Amino acid sequence: MNLSEYIRNIENFPKAGVNFKDITPLLASSDAVEHCVQQLLVLIDHQKIDKVAAIESRGFFFGTLLAQKLNAGFVPIRKPGKLPYKTLKEPYQLEYGLDALEIHEDAIKSGERVLLHDDVLATGGTARAACNLIEQLGGEIVQCNFLLELEFLNGIKKLRSHPVKSLLKY
Ligand code: 5GP
Repeated sequence: MNLSEYIRNIENFPKAGVNFKDITPLLASSDAVEHCVQQLLVLIDHQKIDKVAAIESRGFFFGTLLAQKLNAGFVPIRKPGKLPYKTLKEPYQLEYGLDALEIHEDAIKSGERVLLHDDVLATGGTARAACNLIEQLGGEIVQCNFLLELEFLNGIKKLRSHPVKSLLKY
C-alpha cells in the first residue's frame, strides 16, 4: 500500500506559505489505518514499551491504537488547561510566540519505557517539549515515532538524543 496516496496537501493552511499535510483521508480508510498501525509496530521492532505518550490531538488517533497493540498504557500530552489532575507544564517556542504542553504528574513512573508518538514531525519543538515532560517524570524514551516527517525542517535535530522513526518522509 502506498500511504502517501492517503495524505492530502492543503496549500496555505493554517496560514499563507504553509503546505499542510492532511491525514484525514488516511483516517477515513480502515485499510490504511490498519496498514499504518502494522508499519508503526515494525518501526518499534518488538522493543518493550510500558507507556505510549501521544500529543494532542492528532497524535491520539494512532497513539491509542499502538498502546493497545503493545499492551502498554496510553498517556495523553495536552495543551494547557485540558488535563484535570495535577500537571507538569513545558513551554516551547512557536514561529511567533510561545505555546506549552502538559502531562499528568502521575502519568509515567520513574524507569518506565515510553514510546512518544505524533502524526507529524515538523520543526520538532512540540516533540522536544513532550520528551522533556516524559523525562521530568523519569520516563525512558525508547523511540519517537511519527506518521510523517517534514525532513527539510530538520526537526530531528531537536530530538538528537532519541531514536526517531517515521513512516513517510517529505
Ligand atoms: P513542530 O513542533 O514539529 O513544528 O510541529 C509539529 C506539530 O504540529 C504536531 O503536533 C503536528 O500535529 C502539527 N503539524 C505541523 N505541521 C503539520 C502538517 O503539515 N500536518 C499535520 N497533520 N500536522 C502538522
